[in-house]
Amino acid sequence: MKKFSVKIRLTVWLTLLTVLLAAVLFAFMLIVSSTVYSHSAMSQLSQTVKNNVTQISMEQDQLRFGDEFHFYQNGVSTLIYSRNEALLAGQIPVSFTAEEAFQNGLTRTVSSGDQSWLVLDLWLPMGWENGVWVRGLMEAPDHRLIARNLLPVFLIALPVFALLAALGSYRIVKRAFVPLDTISTTAAAINEARDLSRRIVLPPGRDEFSRLADTFNQLFERLERSFEAEKQFTADASHELRTPVSVIKGACEYAQKYDETLEERQETLSMIYRQAVRMSDLISQLLSITRLDQGTELTSPETVNLGELLRFLCEQQHYDQRRLTLEVPETLTVWADPALLTRLAQNLIDNAFKYGRPDGHVWVSACRSETEVLLQVRDNGIGIAPDQQKKIWQRFYQVDPSRSRENGAGLGLSMVEQIARVHGGYMTLDSVPDRGSTFTLHLPVQNMV
Ligand code: ADP
Repeated sequence: MKKFSVKIRLTVWLTLLTVLLAAVLFAFMLIVSSTVYSHSAMSQLSQTVKNNVTQISMEQDQLRFGDEFHFYQNGVSTLIYSRNEALLAGQIPVSFTAEEAFQNGLTRTVSSGDQSWLVLDLWLPMGWENGVWVRGLMEAPDHRLIARNLLPVFLIALPVFALLAALGSYRIVKRAFVPLDTISTTAAAINEARDLSRRIVLPPGRDEFSRLADTFNQLFERLERSFEAEKQFTADASHELRTPVSVIKGACEYAQKYDETLEERQETLSMIYRQAVRMSDLISQLLSITRLDQGTELTSPETVNLGELLRFLCEQQHYDQRRLTLEVPETLTVWADPALLTRLAQNLIDNAFKYGRPDGHVWVSACRSETEVLLQVRDNGIGIAPDQQKKIWQRFYQVDPSRSRENGAGLGLSMVEQIARVHGGYMTLDSVPDRGSTFTLHLPVQNMV
């Protein structure tokens, strides 16, 4: 059975069930019709015998029968017997040969040969010999005959029934499976054509299939987005890497042809060095982002004194220390990876200076609230327009590429956001163009120690 499709299996089960139901129905009909026949035969017997009894009288020791007395009526033979069971009037049906003792008022079934009879005796008290027995005899309904009459009907109806049930079930099952077919053909088409923009379209409804289709569509949407992002990422990464490579290539060619003095060569060499550093920074950023993405970036969380970490970091900065203010409490410890936290803070500090005014100021602070630890880097620089504030977290996105091209490729904030995420936290930005920006890392309470 397992090698057949679910549709066929369901159809077979439904058909078998219908046939079984029809058989049970047939047996039930047989029982009911036999019972009804028996009851109506018994009441006919009793009615006829009772009617006849009212028509019997005795005049001068002679039995008299009224006009409405019938020895044979409605299939009932009426017989009159004396007290000592001698037949006085009436004719015993030829096929009734049983010796049946008299029992007053009890209708019973008596077998005679291969036939059954319904027998009812009534004792009618009257002057002569104190009374007479009135016996009613009637052929009992033959159950086998009823079955024999019903069987052809059943035998003809059953195959028709089974066929209708099979066709009906198959139609219903097929229709019920249409959405599933649509889902699997669309999924197969997407797979074959590698067209992730296609979606499963089902008629509106809130059944299991619609929910399945919704889930698949969401999956396709996510796949499409990550596929597009992957494509974009690869294109951007190769573009970003190609630029310093072609600068280095061009510089080498030029130096080979035209650089004659030592100074010229030194200059070319330092340009090549700058480009190589840029490339190496880019490669390590790309590697780090990929590892954070895949969850393979080594995170070694430990108890970190955030105040100490930030103080040490700020002291290391090559920026003018007078333009940098640090505000941290004496003890503020968190459970985090110190290397990643340092990278996050360094990126934010670099940006704050890079996009600040020439004489601008940068504030680095950390504090704790009831539920979070906050690390903030604020500047009074150029700020970010509201419509750009969401985009700056995307990889390779730069508001003004000409401004940041020399040192940066638009990967810093993407990495910052990922570092926040691997710590179970998130980043927020508060920025006003020409007034400045505040980048805040929110670490959840679990990270407090
Ligand atoms: P990069 O600095 O290498 O361009 P980032 O991912 O660090 O890349 O930043 C993305 C963009 O966000 C930057 O190009 C810049 O336009 C904007 N940005 C980041 N930090 C600031 C800031 N403190 N003030 C203004 N703009 C900022």
